Amino acid sequence: MSKTAFLNGRQCPKRLWLQWNAPEHKEDGDGQGGDRMRKGREIGRYARECFPGGRDASSEPFDPVDSLRRTRELMDDGEQVIYEAAFSYNGLFASVDILVRKGAHWHAYEVKSGTSVKEHYLSDCAFQYFVLRGAKIPVGKFFILHIDNQYVLEEKADPVRLFQRVPVLKRIQPLQGEIARLLPRMKSLLDAEDIPEVDIGPHCRTPYPCPFTGHCWSHVPSPSIFDVMHMGSEKKFRLYRSGLLRQEEIPADFPLSDAQKMQVHATVSGMPYADHARLREWLDTLQYPLHLVDFECFQPAIPRYPGTRPYQQLPFQFSIHQVDKAGSQPLHRSFLAEAGPDPRPAFIAELLLVLGDKGSILAYNRDFEVGRLKEIARDFPEHREAIQLVISRVVDLMLPFEKKWYYAPGMQGSHSIKSVLPALVPGLHYEALAIADGQAASEAFEELIHITDEALIQKTRNDLLAYCTLDTAAMVEILQVLEKVCR
Ligand code: SF4
Repeated sequence: MSKTAFLNGRQCPKRLWLQWNAPEHKEDGDGQGGDRMRKGREIGRYARECFPGGRDASSEPFDPVDSLRRTRELMDDGEQVIYEAAFSYNGLFASVDILVRKGAHWHAYEVKSGTSVKEHYLSDCAFQYFVLRGAKIPVGKFFILHIDNQYVLEEKADPVRLFQRVPVLKRIQPLQGEIARLLPRMKSLLDAEDIPEVDIGPHCRTPYPCPFTGHCWSHVPSPSIFDVMHMGSEKKFRLYRSGLLRQEEIPADFPLSDAQKMQVHATVSGMPYADHARLREWLDTLQYPLHLVDFECFQPAIPRYPGTRPYQQLPFQFSIHQVDKAGSQPLHRSFLAEAGPDPRPAFIAELLLVLGDKGSILAYNRDFEVGRLKEIARDFPEHREAIQLVISRVVDLMLPFEKKWYYAPGMQGSHSIKSVLPALVPGLHYEALAIADGQAASEAFEELIHITDEALIQKTRNDLLAYCTLDTAAMVEILQVLEKVCR
């Protein structure tokens, strides 16, 4: 049994059983699994530079027997540093990212892409330590190596400063008893004929979203009690355990906030809610020409450009639909940086040019775009004054939805643009696009840095342009719906 299988089983016995016996029910959860794994591999490789000169015990394609054999050989040969060192004990298999010989002992390092020590990282390390101890490996110290988000890249990257080393041996030793206690149950699950009876619960999303939710949650309708806005998980499952699924089934005396009551009423009646006076007041603050803007960013875990930090959001693309006066045809402008060099100088120069000095600038979730602008002003002080003027013009198109001045039943309790757009403009959607969300756009831009095929580069750039264009076209449509509501 691998560490992943054990931890899956600890999250939910049914998850372990399904993974083993019915993996066809699995789906890619939030769709970001591939990116997380790619980033994890990149960080893992980079962390090795903190301990250069080691030998790799992993096998390609993955073969646990081969990895165990190679690890044993490298240890017997007196190797000082082993990457992906593999061990087994009592039917359990674990590999350690970096193992360093220190006299008669070994120091183990588990590399994590996060920026702090999370509870489930300790569970990972506890399992590895359990196997290493069982395999009679004298572990003197155990560390988590995680990204230090305060690190700022100077001219030359420094892997030692990019990672923080946190000793965790004292924290994982007390977890050994629990692993020993859980193991027999886990092992018996793998051989069990029948699926364990486990109902859905908060464990379906913690510590990781379970990839079997499509299977286990298939009896939950949409919309459901789980879509009620600002309601804690504990309260939602209290309703669920009392046998309720639909919002219309919520008892009249169940405590709901005003916003929740408004949502439930809209869902049950199928009628949107509008606070016409507040909407009109907000719409009247907008000044033409309107600029509906959207930025796309990427976040390299390992900083690429001097002065940047790990996971810093770096804008590389914008789309702007400009509406000169009420009812006029929007004019579209966009920018997409060349992959490779720091995209921000060209991005900000072009952005300032397109935005000019008049009219409101509408962003969907103002904090995001303003946050990026402030960072550019900090890192490129020559633009500070112009950026401050731009920021003073930015208005949040999300505000009417966040403040509940307008609610349509299809929004399912969310004010994110991905929920608002299909509810307000059902004909406009992202499904037909090769790049359909910000995460995919970020990954595609990072990929561009490595692609050499000209045709593929052009296709990816076109896909990125199409995606970002749709974002601001959607904002134009959303604004028109709000105008229509108030007529
Ligand atoms: S969706 Fe929930 S109940 Fe189903 S396997 Fe996953 S964690 Fe268990």
